[in-house]
Amino acid sequence: MTVRLFNTMSRKIEEFKPLVEGKVGFYSCGPTVYHYTHIGNLRSFIQNDILKRMLIENGYEVTHVMNITDVGHLTSDADSGEDKMEKGAARDNKSVFEVAKFYTDAFLKDFNDLNLIRPKHMPKATDYIQEQIDLIQQLEARGYTYKIEDDGIYYDTSKFPGYGKLTGGSLSGDRAGARVEFNNKKRNPTDFALWKFSPKNEKRQMEWDSPWGVGFPGWHTECCAMSMKLLGNHFDIHSGGEDLSRIHHNNEIAQSEPLVGAPWVNYWLHISFLIDKSGEKMSKSKGEFLGMDALRSRGFDPMAYRYLVLLSHFQAQLAFSWDALDAAATGYKNIVKRVAALLKEKSTAPVNETDFDLWHDKILGSVSDNMKTAEALVYIQEMLKSSEINTSTKLKLFEFIDKLLGLQFIDRAQKLVALESESAPTELQTLAEERIKAKNDKNWALADKIRNKIDEAGWTVIDTAQGSKLVKKV
Ligand code: AMP
Ligand code: ZN
Repeated sequence: MTVRLFNTMSRKIEEFKPLVEGKVGFYSCGPTVYHYTHIGNLRSFIQNDILKRMLIENGYEVTHVMNITDVGHLTSDADSGEDKMEKGAARDNKSVFEVAKFYTDAFLKDFNDLNLIRPKHMPKATDYIQEQIDLIQQLEARGYTYKIEDDGIYYDTSKFPGYGKLTGGSLSGDRAGARVEFNNKKRNPTDFALWKFSPKNEKRQMEWDSPWGVGFPGWHTECCAMSMKLLGNHFDIHSGGEDLSRIHHNNEIAQSEPLVGAPWVNYWLHISFLIDKSGEKMSKSKGEFLGMDALRSRGFDPMAYRYLVLLSHFQAQLAFSWDALDAAATGYKNIVKRVAALLKEKSTAPVNETDFDLWHDKILGSVSDNMKTAEALVYIQEMLKSSEINTSTKLKLFEFIDKLLGLQFIDRAQKLVALESESAPTELQTLAEERIKAKNDKNWALADKIRNKIDEAGWTVIDTAQGSKLVKKV
């Protein structure tokens, strides 16, 4: 099936053509592990996962790399301020390495709970220091760098004529990537640090020897060094959140193309923000953000969040609210209930391959067309409602849908069926009988009281023509 993607570089939806037939090299910018990953970060990771699953369902072999930033990301884009990792360590009263491990583990738990397929490689920046030094040396040999005394080695953006092309700026005019603060020792406002020297008289927890002195690499260097090491000098797709395009990704291009030729990457994908009530980007640095724990503690299934994300398009901002999540959770559960009903039918009718292909292609077609997941979800609802499609075909379609969208419908439906067939503890069954007696005696107040008690114990009483039934709540 044709895959079409909006490419930030061309500002158009383009047909996807891989560099090597049948294969895709895909790099996405991962988390900076100085704090918990928030649901905004996770939105971008869910969209990466959908892209990968869609390519796999289209028959591609995808090599996905996602980095873990554990050094070099400063609090200010002007290459000044504190290292976010060192700041996190001071806040948590831990070593930088402990902080990195702690938040990486927490992130991986979220990753699993959201059913994101693990990238083939998840390199840590600190494991690729030598590769970053090598890259800076190559740039130095070609005259792209200069030194600022007591500060670091900088990239001279005026040397790269295509600087800013990803977002359409240039050094004159819009000044793509211009810093908020302009360190006036820089030759151009858009220049950025490749290697920062450790401050004199201060021992950093993370620092390394280099040809230029003890220090640490700038944040933009790691993604180039690691992606090229693991995917080769040219690869197909690079993604990240929309905040990364103007500075981080323009800088990545400026570091790579002089060394390997253009285009370094063929398709650039940017995922729009998850925004909060006040319309602002959810961000770690603001200190107030929601992580998966906040959702879990309110009883939400991580799949409800995944479903909410897939209701929106990756190029549109998504406003988070508890009401929106609640509505998504209800929508998700309704589908699970319907799938559970299909499972209970235990149909032995054969799958109708023509129907299967028709709906498979509609659903995969939507996601392959610039990742229209919301449209795919509409098709899924239509398919479920259709009386023309038999149960076996619907269930086989759900197996495919789970692979494509990772929403775990069948798993949750199986759990629901298991819960429904579970019999209630004897004391609750006794209570249910007492309730029937109270009803027969027209003692409604007592009957309601008993119903509430059963409810509090996590079960629901359902009155049917055959008597009352106890069903475990989900
Ligand atoms: P960070 O951990 O801040 O380095 O970000 C990890 C990834 O999440 C990057 O690709 C960011 O662009 C992305 N990101 C950060 N904030 C948001 C947000 N509010 N919505 C969507 N993506 C985000
Ligand atoms: Zn990056």
